[in-house]
Amino acid sequence: MMDDAFCFADELGPEKIVHIHQPALGLKAILVIDNIAAGPSVGGVRMAPDVSLDECFRLARAMTMKNAAAGLPHGGGKAVIFADPHMDPAGKEELIRAFARAIADETGYIPGPDMGTDETAMAWIHDETGRSVGLPAVIGGIPLDEIGATGFGLAAAAKIAAPHCGLDLKGARVAIQGFGSVGTHAARFLEREDAVLVAASDSRGTVHNPDGIDVEALIRFKARGQSVTESGMGESGDPDMIIGVDCDIWIPAARPDVIHAGNADAITARLILQGANIPATQEAEEMLHRRGVLIVPDFIANAGGVICAAVEYRGGTEAVAFQVIDEKITANTRLVLQRADAEKIMPRQAAEALARERVEEAMGFRRRSNKAGKGG
Ligand code: NAD
Repeated sequence: MMDDAFCFADELGPEKIVHIHQPALGLKAILVIDNIAAGPSVGGVRMAPDVSLDECFRLARAMTMKNAAAGLPHGGGKAVIFADPHMDPAGKEELIRAFARAIADETGYIPGPDMGTDETAMAWIHDETGRSVGLPAVIGGIPLDEIGATGFGLAAAAKIAAPHCGLDLKGARVAIQGFGSVGTHAARFLEREDAVLVAASDSRGTVHNPDGIDVEALIRFKARGQSVTESGMGESGDPDMIIGVDCDIWIPAARPDVIHAGNADAITARLILQGANIPATQEAEEMLHRRGVLIVPDFIANAGGVICAAVEYRGGTEAVAFQVIDEKITANTRLVLQRADAEKIMPRQAAEALARERVEEAMGFRRRSNKAGKGG
């Protein structure tokens, strides 16, 4: 009978679960290394008071699939630290350094930033262990949010997906939910392809202009800390107005589960590029698919950030990062859409199958056990 400690285990992983408890320092943390067949796992360190083993495992598995789908030589892992990320800075540094020393020998895990940790935290971890991604530029980091790695990847996906569903990117009308780091750069890189931003939203509302919005002007406006609705660049409305805006390409770049069975029919776009993670429920994706709306799933379309981190880990430059993001997202979007058509399945199913096959193929090269699939 399977012991509770192994309740998550399947043929892919997890390879290892490490519980860290140092009462003298108030350190409680968990590291899940899910799968390292393709290479050392990369995944974020999340700091929050209410994290759990279950959450850590699910996030680690998501990284296994995302890294494989992106075609990276990395498996998936994740770490959680049970603590308030807003604690006093000295205490936070002490805690993160103690965590780093505790995982120093876990060379199958390369930490990255996540909720509650940032590039400074990654610098402390790097100082203690020599391993981490998402570092400050001065010690080799590539500032992925500043350069727009994920938004650039979304535009690369659009270049393949738009013609696939009969859309010309030139003149295509784009609506973006969440004009933050991912959303602004997606708008910028799509404008370079002559697409036209017709609507954008943030947590306070939506701005809509069917004649087009000047992307750089809206970015400059947003940088002043105001809402897109105050820009005067079009008609403004509540945050949900973005969902029914008349457009060709719809990009969720805000929160999970924003598209559900109750509002999926309001989407007018022919193409959805998922910038946010899990922005639609499974039911909503099925409804949209049946209506003929093409969806490029999150872990294919928004992989620009993690690809950038992998380039950084190898000491690559910003220019190399853009080149690798372009190559990988172009190739993977093409593969997923072709497979979805050939097998008459949804792009998400095709992407999951592709990722799983890559992990299993990598596992086939391993010397010891852990070979997935038949015969073990
Ligand atoms: P961000 O905080 O920079 O931007 C988020 C934007 O969404 C903000 O403008 C915020 O006002 C807006 N927003 C929040 N709630 C909203 C709502 N209900 N309606 C409309 N807008 C709303 O975050 P980000 O880094 O751009 O990430 C956006 C999403 O993309 C997240 O789900 C994140 O997990 C995912 N993602 C980010 C990256 C990356 O490289 N940053 C990579 C992969 C996935």
